[in-house]
Amino acid sequence: MGARPALGPNFDDREKAIDFPAPSESKSNSAEANERTASERMVVQMMNLKASHINFYYRSFQALLDVNLEFAASKITALIGPSGCGKSTLLRSLNRLHETVRGARLEGQITLDNEDILKMDVTSVRRRVGMVFQRSNPFPKSIFENVAYGLGVNGMRGRQHTAEAVEKSLVRAALWDEVKDKLHESAYGLSGGQQQRLCIARALAVNPEVLLLDEPCSALDPISTAKIEELLFSLKEQCTIIIVTHNMQQAARVADYTGFFLMGKLIEFDETKKMYTKPAKKETEDYITGRFG
Ligand code: ADP
Repeated sequence: MGARPALGPNFDDREKAIDFPAPSESKSNSAEANERTASERMVVQMMNLKASHINFYYRSFQALLDVNLEFAASKITALIGPSGCGKSTLLRSLNRLHETVRGARLEGQITLDNEDILKMDVTSVRRRVGMVFQRSNPFPKSIFENVAYGLGVNGMRGRQHTAEAVEKSLVRAALWDEVKDKLHESAYGLSGGQQQRLCIARALAVNPEVLLLDEPCSALDPISTAKIEELLFSLKEQCTIIIVTHNMQQAARVADYTGFFLMGKLIEFDETKKMYTKPAKKETEDYITGRFG
């Protein structure tokens, strides 16, 4: 990550700066060019997922309290904190899954590229923001059909296109080599770790910009967990990844940024390395040093 500045809950660090060619009269040598201010650069804003002033209620119970968080494009952000602190509630809100829960109510704004996701067509939100759950949940269908399903429901049918997209997704999910000779066998014949990677392949089939993962490794053995973690590294260049994990070591291994939640509040957000070595808040330190949770 090099010289990235420290980030806060409302950081603005997803910008990729591209230098303009220096005007010949004022910037004639490279030393001067290096001194250009930010205003002299062309700034390309990358994908921007932002949650602002989120208050979330399950009927009268408030599960999230004024949460503000921006997610860095092409990075992995981990959401950590003790059970019941609201991590999954926030994650699910990011692709509007909360709307399936009776009595759930969200206040605040979630934007994707400055567009309010709460006002967008929900199918389009879920295409752009994919989700993988704690328990792998393949359909009782073949490996091929499981991946093709996402394409079908998103109106991207066409035999050749489907076959190519299925292969591409399985390759991206690091599963292709293990399943290419049994694509038409039941997904239930795969191991737990393979099933989870299949669910990731299914989510990737529609090329989401954001991938949400809710404790994706909690039911997996260490080898399968390591495979998923490696996979996340390879995916993050093309996809912003947000992972809920109760496993602090996992967050330390995979995440560029980490948000620590406690009783519905975002207590601290920072670069993972900084949060784990120099947390700003006492509660964060107590949690990561295992004093509670
Ligand atoms: P975490 O992911 O950090 O374990 P959750 O987001 O699942 O926390 O839950 C946050 C709080 O909201 C908890 O107190 C939990 O009991 C409550 N909660 C979660 N889902 C529901 C629901 N469907 N109905 C009512 N309360 C819920």
